[in-house]
Amino acid sequence: MSTLVTGLAPLGGQPTDLRIDGDLLVEIGALSAKPGERVFDADGLVALPGLVDLHTHLREPGREDAETVLSGTRAAAAGGFTAAHAMANTDPVADTAGVVEQVWRLAREAGYCDVAPVGAVTVGLAGEQLAELGAMADSAARVRVFSDDGHCVADASLMRRALEYVKAFDGVIAQHAQEPSLTVGAQMNEGALSGLLGLPGWPAAAEEAIIARDMLLAAHVRSRVHVCHVSTAGSVDLIRWAKARGWPVTAEATPHHLLLTEDLATTYDPVYKVNPPLRSAEDVEAVRAGLADGTIDVVATDHAPHPVESKDCEWASAAFGMLGLETALSVVQHAMVDTGRLDWAGVADRMSVAPARIGRLDGHGRPLRAGEPATFVLADPTVRRTVSTAGSASKSRNNPYVGRELPGAVVATFLRGRQTFGAHR
Ligand SMILES: [Zn+2]
Repeated sequence: MSTLVTGLAPLGGQPTDLRIDGDLLVEIGALSAKPGERVFDADGLVALPGLVDLHTHLREPGREDAETVLSGTRAAAAGGFTAAHAMANTDPVADTAGVVEQVWRLAREAGYCDVAPVGAVTVGLAGEQLAELGAMADSAARVRVFSDDGHCVADASLMRRALEYVKAFDGVIAQHAQEPSLTVGAQMNEGALSGLLGLPGWPAAAEEAIIARDMLLAAHVRSRVHVCHVSTAGSVDLIRWAKARGWPVTAEATPHHLLLTEDLATTYDPVYKVNPPLRSAEDVEAVRAGLADGTIDVVATDHAPHPVESKDCEWASAAFGMLGLETALSVVQHAMVDTGRLDWAGVADRMSVAPARIGRLDGHGRPLRAGEPATFVLADPTVRRTVSTAGSASKSRNNPYVGRELPGAVVATFLRGRQTFGAHR
């Protein structure tokens, strides 16, 4: 039986209807219901292609107390995501075909959101020898994105070899850009405020130096590098410079680096402790401008669940990271759409089309057209809500937006014609 979704404003254009049959969109336009057809009232909602996250921590295997593939993909669906790239810093590390296939299978069985496992670049994330990149690429999980995220691939010759290796299967190295020798013991952005608070600083140069180095290497060997969680104005400038030369670089910004600033460290509340750290208001402004002009290709959540005991402690001993899947679209609406910097077509590009392209994911980031997969999200941009942890699908509670009012809400998510989130209307 087919489903008719009525009254949409796709990408802010003319209200329209779309018909789903099986796993496909079969008709778009002014449609009327057939006898017996299920009708989904989407009056005034915005339809976007299903969101794709290039950077998610699902924590399974190994830290199922923080998140599982099931809980994390349910949170993803609640956030409007239909595909998520699961980072490799699990226990065991996702550095073999066996581990990436395990994660991929768990997601398939759960059915809430496609998961593309990210393969580790180096064995055990130790930064010493390359992992089995080819075996992971050839596995059932079809890995195309490789990252030691959480750690930087600091050794330049190893980074060069990784870039050369993934060319064979059109892969990409996603770098967590952090020069380790400049960030020993770092706790927050380095600046006047870190001095005032007496917390060791994480200088912008530690990020920018690695980005510059890796872009030079990528250009030299003609392979793709992707910069994770860009957080400084200098990083945006460097990437803009490299892109102007046509170098094969892409980059992401997290929702929190589009909204939150280092001032939050004055609370000493570890919910605001993240890597890379929250930066200055000038950095946030530069990251927004970079996302608007396409210097930064995508928004990626860096959803990083942690159990209460890792966050409910003093700042210096708390874990780095914050939740992001369930609030990403609202934060992007607030920071980019409601400020006039991106329209909904721009959001579709930065949160679906571009990440699917970078990750080489088939069947995602597709236009809402007849014959395409019925993989989309319906959002209501007119509502406002005060964020709370009530009803969250994540197993963790380290949500930095709790108590904050944000615009917009995901109403329903569809993955290949099946509703994975939202009430039936
Ligand atoms: Zn990272």
